[in-house]
This record gives sequence, C-alpha cells and structure tokens, in this order.
Amino acid sequence: MSADPPRDPQPHSPAQGRTASYVGRFAPSPTGPLHAGSLAAALASRLDALAHRGRWLLRIEDLDTPREAPGAAEAILHVLSRLGFAHDGEIVWQSRRDAAYREAFERLHASGLVYPCACTRREIADSVVHAGQRQHRGELVYPGTCRNGLPAGRSARAWRVRVDDAHIAWCDRSAGRFEEALAESVGDFVLRRADGPWAYQLAVVVDDAFQGVTDVVRGADLRDSTARQVYLQRLLRMPTPRYLHVPVVLDARGEKLSKQTGAAAIDPARGVAALNDALEFLGLGTVATGSLERFWTEATARWARS
Ligand code: GLU
Repeated sequence: MSADPPRDPQPHSPAQGRTASYVGRFAPSPTGPLHAGSLAAALASRLDALAHRGRWLLRIEDLDTPREAPGAAEAILHVLSRLGFAHDGEIVWQSRRDAAYREAFERLHASGLVYPCACTRREIADSVVHAGQRQHRGELVYPGTCRNGLPAGRSARAWRVRVDDAHIAWCDRSAGRFEEALAESVGDFVLRRADGPWAYQLAVVVDDAFQGVTDVVRGADLRDSTARQVYLQRLLRMPTPRYLHVPVVLDARGEKLSKQTGAAAIDPARGVAALNDALEFLGLGTVATGSLERFWTEATARWARS
C-alpha cells in the first residue's frame, strides 16, 4: 500500500511528534457488533494514523435509526477500547448533527441543485427497464423522472441532488486513479428521505470536513461511493481527503461480512489473537506476542514499511 505523503516509519508514539497534517477516522454504523470485516477496516485506519503519527478520530454513524441495533454503538466502542484502539478527541455521533446536515442541504437547495422525488424503488426499476438502461455495478441508475417537477398528485419521498454532467476523477492510494460520469453510474442521488433520515453520502462529507479528516481508510465496499462524496465536497467547497480502500472480508459464500447477515461478533477477550486475524487479513502476518502494546508497536512498523 503506497502512501502519499511518504510515511515516517516512526512506530507507535501517539503522544509525541504528531504529524499535524494527518487526521484519520473510523466511522462504524451501529447496525450490529464489530465483526472480522469492520475490525480489519478499523485496524487499517488506526495503523495508517499511527504510522503517520497523526490523529485518529471516531464517529458513530447512527443516522439510520430503523437498522440500528440497540446497544451496538456502545458494544463497538467497548471492543475497540479493550483491543487498545486509542482515539483522539470527542466521539462524533451523527444522530446529534442534524443542524450541520440541514445547513449543507440548504446550501445545495439554494443553488437550485436539489429537487423532490416521488419515485418508489419499484417505479425506478420499471423505468430503468423501460428505457432499456442497464444497471450499473448492480445499482439502479436514477433515470431523472422527477427532475423537472413532481408528477401531479404525488408527494416527495426523497430529495435528490442533480449530477448534471459531473465527471469525477479521484485517486485511491493503493488502486490508483478512478474516473466516473455520475449521470451514468448513479444518476441524481438521494440526500435525504422525506420521512427524515439524511443520506450517508451527505452526512459523511459534512462530517469528514467538520472533523478535519485528511485520510479516509475504509473497506473497498465503499469505493463506489467515493465519486459521489468528492462531487458533494466540490459543491459544498469542502476539502477532498486522501482515500485508501482496503479489501473487505468475505464469508464462505463470497459475500461481504455484514452485521445484518449475522457475522460473528469479535470477542474482546481474544485480545491480540483477534487483532492478529485482522492483521493477517491485511497481508501483514501475525505478531508473536500476547501483549497489546507489543502488537501495536510491531504492527505499526509493518504497516509503515508496507
Ligand atoms: N459507516 C460506514 C460503515 O460502517 C463507513 C463509512 C465510511 O467509512 O465512510 O460501513
């Protein structure tokens, strides 16, 4: 995994000699307990921050209340702390950031970039088929049905942002350059559902800017979201962080482990053994120690060299 800027191979010393210019973060959605996949993403992001002697922040993405599991946020924070993930600053909870998302949404709305959409998922699927369009990456591309106004007698189900002819190029630190015409890959996308919740794409952009995040290190399942996020950063005049997407852990059927499909919870009592599984998954072997402190020092040195 190549880094830009170059890493300083100084190991674990979070309190001293910080690189002021590096701010990383881990941003779990509390839909269930931490599992092998989310632990690997957390470890990659923490090790990258340590290797850069940067700050590392936590954000709980508790926007989507119906999918949240009661107590999951606290359980995730407990496991991270037991495994020696030391975070900087206050934890940000998205459920408390309504005013910030509203302000960003209003700015986009005032620029004429946002419109209400009445379409159900079924209607979008039907019109995509009708127009002879294919799905892109397994996702429906919004065909723009409500772009020029809501059909008579229909009310808004969501608010979408126009993508017009936006062509987004961005760079992943490992996989290199990506280019995407948003009209072809996703179409005008949702910023808010009319029944309340803010969309992940809007909240993540507003919060990465609010927390001063310079480096996003996360699972490759989110790589396809990055162009939408870069687009919103540009519209909102917010900086674009560097991005590094790490492989996602798959289950026996080749599907991404997820909290919703019941991936096994990490048992914090396993200590270094749990961390070693994640480190090995990231291609950095295992550290022969029972000590969390030794694990973090050695794993950081390996990440810095990789
Ligand atoms: N909350 C997202 C998740 O748990 C991660 C968001 C991100 O890292 O951008 O999958």
